[in-house]
Amino acid sequence: MTDQLHAVIAGAGVGGLAAAIALARANVRVTVLERAADIEEVGAGLQLASNATGCLRELGVLDAVLRHATTPEQVRLRRARDGKDLARMPLGPIAELRWGAPYIVIHRADLQRVLLDRCLSDPLIEVKTGVNVMGFAVANDGVEIGARQGENPVRITADFLIGADGSRSALRERIGLGLSDQLVWSGRTAWRALVPSELAPAFARKLETGLWLGPKAHLVHYPLRQGEIINVVAITEDHWRAENAPDFWEIAGEPADVSPRFARWHEDARALIGAVAEWRRWPLFDRAPARRWSVQRVAVLGDAAHPMVPFLAQGAAQAIEDAAALGAAFTKYASNVDAALVDYQGARVARAAAVVMASRRQGSIYHMGGPMALARDLVMGRLGPHRMMTQLDWLYDYRARG
Ligand SMILES: Cc1cc2nc3c(=O)[nH]c(=O)nc-3n(C[C@H](O)[C@H](O)[C@H](O)COP(=O)(O)OP(=O)(O)OC[C@H]3O[C@@H](n4cnc5c(N)ncnc54)[C@H](O)[C@@H]3O)c2cc1C
Repeated sequence: MTDQLHAVIAGAGVGGLAAAIALARANVRVTVLERAADIEEVGAGLQLASNATGCLRELGVLDAVLRHATTPEQVRLRRARDGKDLARMPLGPIAELRWGAPYIVIHRADLQRVLLDRCLSDPLIEVKTGVNVMGFAVANDGVEIGARQGENPVRITADFLIGADGSRSALRERIGLGLSDQLVWSGRTAWRALVPSELAPAFARKLETGLWLGPKAHLVHYPLRQGEIINVVAITEDHWRAENAPDFWEIAGEPADVSPRFARWHEDARALIGAVAEWRRWPLFDRAPARRWSVQRVAVLGDAAHPMVPFLAQGAAQAIEDAAALGAAFTKYASNVDAALVDYQGARVARAAAVVMASRRQGSIYHMGGPMALARDLVMGRLGPHRMMTQLDWLYDYRARG
């Protein structure tokens, strides 16, 4: 009989918590270290397509997630200028039947709370907040992790370390994926807001994901929490230099920063944007895909491994896929850490790279103007729901074990 493995995970976002659950299911003892003092209500709505919910089912948390989720009946694409319908794609039971798991929308804080509760109820998982992971040293048969809890240094030894510390991952920097491994500024900003349902225009209260396409901008909205609030995301183009683009999570935006950019849009879109009292501003970055995610006993996961622009709504979904694949690798290789991390990397690198690149392309398609936009709208109109779904099969019809 071998000793039980011990993993440290840096970061208690969706990726880190899902990875803790997946590893514990593979009988690995896990310590999650989160630098924030509390696991707070950050972010707003997330769409989770069937590839993510299928993995949540594998992790045994889908039923709990569904209690907080909303299932949109369709995606409705509209043209910014005149509000004309460009296309509709059914979701609801049709999506579930086609891709084997539901397509849902959920507040990020609700998803994180479900994952955290599951972690806290698992005797194999310990979650410590207020602990900032600073670095690590790899020895032959393990990793020594250096962290700070307030002023106090903390040292923990583990068999392996997972960096789930977000898109500005310090652990990714430390494992060293090359000089060209930099965050890439997309030139785009997401403005996010939550609008109380009673203040939102009626069209936005429908049980659907609305997607509006305009030149150099798009708008997404869907109801959350049984329709109590409407999640609104307006994406615009900005031309800061990358180094001047502010860090995200933090920044408030005023209605006057956003409304003028949509002044020539259809009145429905303007009414929704006008209903927002306060925006949060998220400059959008990604990285060119890396070929390696793991060096010796340390691997990255989630945004730390594959930050992406959110135009396919797949960042958290890919983090959840990573977690499921990591758990599957340790189920397969049990105490052989090296083999399991190689298996995890092999299962994930190409898939996540494809999603990073497809997300970039999607942004260009959404923001077309002039004749290109006309051609795009024609093609979308002619596609029809069946072919739209077929185009998404590669993305949504995915399980961690293939
Ligand atoms: C506008 C917008 C819309 C989006 N919409 C969607 C969507 O619809 N669907 C979807 O799937 N995804 C979406 N995403 C992406 C999604 O939000 C992210 O991909 C996902 O939250 C990443 O999770 P993560 O756990 O990898 O990283 P994070 O959520 O960034 O978590 C990282 C954690 O690590 C902690 N940490 C950092 N450094 C340290 C350290 N040194 N020590 C300890 N802890 C540390 C941080 O405090 C944080 O809690 C969207 C993103 C944006 C910006």
